Amino acid sequence: MAHSPEKVEEFVCTNCHVTHAGTPVHESPANHNFEAPESCGACGETEFIRTENWVHFHE
Ligand SMILES: [Zn+2]
Repeated sequence: MAHSPEKVEEFVCTNCHVTHAGTPVHESPANHNFEAPESCGACGETEFIRTENWVHFHE
């Protein structure tokens, strides 16, 4: 694998606060996003918040 490591966005389950790595979604070669998982593997919750927003959400 020649790909350089890339920062993966993470999502926090709003119910149990387990962190999940986002799923990369490639919209075009130069543009991609990370999506939250469909549901939490721990509790089944479907609401997630990005870790970068979590700090604010949490306060
Ligand atoms: Zn959960």
